[in-house]
Amino acid sequence: MTASVISAESIPGTGRAAQGAIELRQVSKHYGDVVAVDHLDLTVQPGEFVTLLGPSGSGKTTTMMMVAGFEEHSAGTVLIDGAPVDSLPPRDRNLGVVFQNYALFPHMSALENVEFALRMRKVPRAERRQRASDALDRVGLGKMGDRKPRQLSGGQQQRVALARALVFNPAALLLDEPMAALDKRLREQMQEEIKTLQKSLGITVLFVTHDQDEAMAMSDRIVVMKDGKIVQSGPPEEVYNHPTTDWVASFLGDTNLIPCTVVERNGEEAVVDLGGLGLARVRDRGASGENYAVSIRPEHLKFRTRASAGNGCAATLVSSTNLGATVRHRLTAGGHELQLRELSSDRSDRSARGDGGAGILPDEELWVGWDADKAQLLVLES
Ligand code: ADP
Ligand code: MG
Repeated sequence: MTASVISAESIPGTGRAAQGAIELRQVSKHYGDVVAVDHLDLTVQPGEFVTLLGPSGSGKTTTMMMVAGFEEHSAGTVLIDGAPVDSLPPRDRNLGVVFQNYALFPHMSALENVEFALRMRKVPRAERRQRASDALDRVGLGKMGDRKPRQLSGGQQQRVALARALVFNPAALLLDEPMAALDKRLREQMQEEIKTLQKSLGITVLFVTHDQDEAMAMSDRIVVMKDGKIVQSGPPEEVYNHPTTDWVASFLGDTNLIPCTVVERNGEEAVVDLGGLGLARVRDRGASGENYAVSIRPEHLKFRTRASAGNGCAATLVSSTNLGATVRHRLTAGGHELQLRELSSDRSDRSARGDGGAGILPDEELWVGWDADKAQLLVLES
């Protein structure tokens, strides 16, 4: 099967744009009084892997259904490759979809399930067979084409669904929690396989998950949703390290939230008063509100010697818990409770060297610090 039509590059010499751009302009969806999606603006570039990440009920599935054409929107426009598709049925949108509840046909073999997508598009029989068989090869199921879904594991069934979504060379793939039913190990394996497939095909992917680790692992860009709206969007590291609200910070993982007052703001940086923890220089993304805090991820707090420069303060250790690969320390500092996480191997190294805090005993006085670029000023919503 040729993958040239789904190249992420523009087609040389033709001036034609690359395929797979998805755009939502002010798209809303109401179910009676429920506003499932609220004036959503979203652009996905050709070849980009974008993840909608949000808690249950935040409007992720509704958004996907409107892009796919299974659900009509109440307002706004959906464009694919620059053309409005609002009046096109799903099959004419050139999108491959794998939805959690979009099951395989139980009475058809894996091969027939994949072929079905081509039958719907009136591809001649012989070509159908060949392309379906190639698609199964591509997801590692070349030898299992004859099996019925019930003769396949959950992971294999999802691969068949993926082959079915890819077989007609769609401009983009829509994947809504495709791994939700799989166990952790299989999920991680599928995550890597989908990522590899996406890169080799250069295909656009709009992905949905409520799992922040999965979003971090797979995405070029994460779009964080809450109550039908986008609350923040950016590359994974940026959203993780530089959340603009306490809600985003907490949704993406554990964090230390230290309430503060803003002393000075100058572009990318701010000086804040952390109360008992003194003045600190932190990153600023310009979010504004009534109340502010600084977010520092537990892994970005470090044991320091008092002499070391930069942000830091005296702290007292409350407890240490070995979590296997990491150790979680609970501390108090300047009247705040803080969490510090370090690699277990770092802890052993430090003990061996006899550095400051080597003993790490409860009630021991320590010095903890952090790098200014790892501390983020954000708005306290709650
Ligand atoms: P997510 O996929 O993020 O969990 P959904 O898009 O499924 O969220 O749902 C968003 C909101 O819309 C929820 O409040 C949900 O209850 C509501 N909703 C979704 N589908 C329907 C429907 N068919 N009828 C009524 N309400 C719906
Ligand atoms: Mg959903």
